[in-house]
Amino acid sequence: MNLYNHFVEKIVLPVGDKVLGTSFIKGLQHWRSLQYLDANALQVQQTKALNDLLTYSTTKINYYKNLNVKKYDNPYEWIKQFPLLTKKRIKENLTEMLITPNVEQLVKESSSGSSGIQGTVYMSKQEASFSQGLQILAWEWGGYHLGDTVLQLGITPERTRVKQIKDILLNTTYTNAYNIDENIVIDVLKKQKTNGFFCGYASGLYTYAKIAEEKGLSNIKFKSVISFGDKMFPHYRKKIEQVFNTKVYDNYGCTEGIIISAECEHGNQHIITPHVYLELLDGNGNEVAPGEQGYVVVTRLDAYTMPLIRYYLGDLAIKSKNETECPCGRKLPMLDMIIGRDTDIIITPRGKRLIVHFFTGICEHISEIKQFRVIQHQIDDIEMEVIPDIHFSNDILEALKSKIFDRATETFPLRFTIVEKIPSTSSGKPQIILSKLPKEINTNL
Ligand SMILES: [Zn+2]
Repeated sequence: MNLYNHFVEKIVLPVGDKVLGTSFIKGLQHWRSLQYLDANALQVQQTKALNDLLTYSTTKINYYKNLNVKKYDNPYEWIKQFPLLTKKRIKENLTEMLITPNVEQLVKESSSGSSGIQGTVYMSKQEASFSQGLQILAWEWGGYHLGDTVLQLGITPERTRVKQIKDILLNTTYTNAYNIDENIVIDVLKKQKTNGFFCGYASGLYTYAKIAEEKGLSNIKFKSVISFGDKMFPHYRKKIEQVFNTKVYDNYGCTEGIIISAECEHGNQHIITPHVYLELLDGNGNEVAPGEQGYVVVTRLDAYTMPLIRYYLGDLAIKSKNETECPCGRKLPMLDMIIGRDTDIIITPRGKRLIVHFFTGICEHISEIKQFRVIQHQIDDIEMEVIPDIHFSNDILEALKSKIFDRATETFPLRFTIVEKIPSTSSGKPQIILSKLPKEINTNL
């Protein structure tokens, strides 16, 4: 840490908290103090936090009161009685889910989901500050100190005045993540000081790395690249690390203020159990065994203004079955893999599940294909859209098809369509898999 880091943490941000009525520094210190607890202390902390949250919610929050769920002394049994909370359910019950009708004093977070339903959640300033504090702790795992130079990719780079002041003090430059001029990207990257941090959506960071590579910018170095917000595919990571001479630290959370896991210095994703209770469920709503893939359902343990209990995110992940400890010294449990959206899976007629990595792992070696998207219309109707690059010929598609069947160890109906453009998702992120199959999990459980 240098002098400026100290100045920011000891003076600038505490003053900011006072002026704005926030608790950012308190939040950051709180999470720092919990990160190295031993496994037993973590368990005790989480059991109490979960019990407190369920007790509070079922006595003070109308939505949960009206559910009339059966109470158990063990909070891990008790929580299983709660139905899953979907964006749709939140929308229908928003007023009943809030502790106060005075939403103007609260912090509002909205997100758009793949379901097309906008999710809105509210939290107190204190709860929002604690989320931000936790986000910074996760960045610290990537070597960041408050006040270090940051280049941050944003979806909407317009900043409010308070944020503009904060950006200056925190040495942060905001730049647009998507749909931008290549010359602007080059310009932004060239202005970067060495040893800064580059943060943003995985797909945006990847796009910047690709442009830098294509334009021959070979001397740009970031101390770390910190990604969040969408899936960090292995081929994204490889490219970003290689082009920017750096290491990627991937964080997993959702815009509703929940930080689920973060990557430590040793490349492991630690679940932030003091902040979130994570369940990975099968299609019937039962917990999957470690090492198996399950639907991500989260409960934020430190938000009482609008408690989110068993919030269904529409993502899939695998909990680690590895019992060995991470060399970083943190006893927080680990996630093996974050697979991504449940609409990002292709299911073969024989029931095999092909995730995004399956396709990217094959296509990244085929330079004649510029971009692709796999669409599952029906269980026996899978279409692959392909944007051809130079040297492309139809033989490439035949080779691709046999490679796919080879890896999947089965054949299935697969057709190709040559296209000029592949639409992005509503938030501007590129889409690799689009499944039109109905959801396997019944969210009305
Ligand atoms: Zn670790």
